[in-house]
Amino acid sequence: MPLTPMRQILDEAAKKKYGVGAYNVNNMEQIQAIMKAAKETKSPVIIQASHGALEYSNMIYLKKLMEAAAEENPEIPVAMHLDHGPNLKTVKAAIALGFSSVMIDGSLDYDTKTAGGAHPARTFEDNIRVTKEVVDYAHGFGVSVEGELGTLGGIEDDTHAEAVHLTDPEQCEEFCRRTGVDALAIAIGTSHGAYKFKAEPKLAMDLVKEIHQRVPNVRLVMHGSSSVPAALVDEVNKYGGKLEKTMGVPVKAIQEAVGLGINKINVDTDGRLVITAAIRKVFFEKPKEFDPRKYLGPAREALTKLIAERMVEFGTAGHAGDYQPLSLAEMKVIYAAGASGGCGGCGCGKKH
Ligand SMILES: [Zn+2]
Repeated sequence: MPLTPMRQILDEAAKKKYGVGAYNVNNMEQIQAIMKAAKETKSPVIIQASHGALEYSNMIYLKKLMEAAAEENPEIPVAMHLDHGPNLKTVKAAIALGFSSVMIDGSLDYDTKTAGGAHPARTFEDNIRVTKEVVDYAHGFGVSVEGELGTLGGIEDDTHAEAVHLTDPEQCEEFCRRTGVDALAIAIGTSHGAYKFKAEPKLAMDLVKEIHQRVPNVRLVMHGSSSVPAALVDEVNKYGGKLEKTMGVPVKAIQEAVGLGINKINVDTDGRLVITAAIRKVFFEKPKEFDPRKYLGPAREALTKLIAERMVEFGTAGHAGDYQPLSLAEMKVIYAAGASGGCGGCGCGKKH
């Protein structure tokens, strides 16, 4: 079974007002855990890989693992998404691998780095230019595109922004109209990585509401949305870890944002933490253990449990069988109809 266009997964979620988690992967155990959770909870799912993950897995390995995941679970709509694509070159590589969705993060200039490793923000016009170039290319293959307006705090892989800027709702309409993106990552006060907040964050929920009203046919995305549960940080530290006290985005805040128009929720850190806690526990309790299956197996189980919980909390559970997944070829026709005067915005192909 082929991978599903992310646009369709998010449009279906928007229709029924639920969120779809996008979970980051680097290896086989993570992919298996996500698919098992999706199967158990009957959830459509977005699996995503960053540029760093593609490099780590030598690209071809992730492609083959994803094909296995889709083949083994024909009843689950699965999108494979490039997270924080830095440029058209990486986007082209992901599409050549068979990804059904890509993000172009035109909010930052990934080719420039300060001494501290941060990337400066691109100008609005420059962001539109690089994003439009990717949309024109990707839609020609039926591949969905996520753009980003505004910049997040924190660090995860290579996403270190020089400064934090919340998304300006007034810019969203022009950005979406001129680029034709399917999904838009917005900065509402969330942050990448494990060290997000010292206290419970106040997210700009009014921004979600306003942006959703201004661009109702573009699916909105929350990055940096791990919850970093205190119990999980404590578990890592109990078995020898030295993580600092920190807070993430509470699940109830994500649920509120979903009610206001968010449909894609990026979760990476929580998965990293749960894997680390499970492996540390085995090493701590059984220091003589040296069979990788004996610690990667429990890590995979712990990740399955966490993701199944998120699928229920985000409202994704139970929706896998709601619709017939489109192929990329069918999606390509829909985009072409949009380019010739029909709607390319909501994917319906009609004039309205
Ligand atoms: Zn991100």
